[in-house]
Amino acid sequence: MSDWKKLEQLYEGKAKKVFATEDPEVVIVDYKDDATAFNGKKKGTIRGKGVINNRMSNYIMKQLEIEGVPTHLVEELSDRETAVKKVSIVPLEVIIRNVAAGSFLKRMGVAEGTDLLCSILEFSYKCDELDDPFINDDYALALGLATQDELNIIKTYTHKVNEVLQKFFLSIGIRLIDFKIEFGRLSNGSIILADEISPDTCRLWDIKTNEKLDKDRFRRDLGGTEEAYQEVMKRIFGE
Ligand code: UDP
Repeated sequence: MSDWKKLEQLYEGKAKKVFATEDPEVVIVDYKDDATAFNGKKKGTIRGKGVINNRMSNYIMKQLEIEGVPTHLVEELSDRETAVKKVSIVPLEVIIRNVAAGSFLKRMGVAEGTDLLCSILEFSYKCDELDDPFINDDYALALGLATQDELNIIKTYTHKVNEVLQKFFLSIGIRLIDFKIEFGRLSNGSIILADEISPDTCRLWDIKTNEKLDKDRFRRDLGGTEEAYQEVMKRIFGE
């Protein structure tokens, strides 16, 4: 059994609360069912989402650790709570696209579902007031968001994450269209994967039917959002 106890709340975000522990290097994340889209303009609840995102994210992080990607995971404490390493977040949303979807469609004038000839890695600047603008490496370097060494390691880890996730999702009949991840710095400066990997942060399509099994159901009012999250959970954990 674990010794981690929740102390004061440090932060409440759109989908999670974060609490201090007695260890200054460890915090507890508590996943909520609250959902937002379009930078908080659309709000709602996806019943059971917190449990699914917590368990799924931890399951994937464990696999990534085995594959050599260091993550923030310390220990799953309950259905919704996980002890994780405390980091300062690198203010970049790191996105990989394998198939055209989302904001890429308008930017590039292509149809949803268009296959890409190679995977695209892109950055957004994590800044709500600016609506997370699209940036490139030079923006990140010029504004001191990350160093060149950090960008290199972030890119290497992100391509590895894509490789592991694509294989994993394929094994449960799901096509990984795109995803967003975030990285953090430990107090010693090393870079690790932080935040979550879930249907909130990945586009997941059924391999046979192309049915959307992710947050696009909520964003676009497609209905069946809770069922879609549960379907992903069932394919991973058989429940
Ligand atoms: N994404 C995310 N958080 C964001 C923006 C995007 O998790 O704030 C994920 C999204 O779920 C998708 C990928 O990043 O899997 C690419 O998203 P895109 O840039 O197409 O933006 P969106 O259309 O989701 O606004």
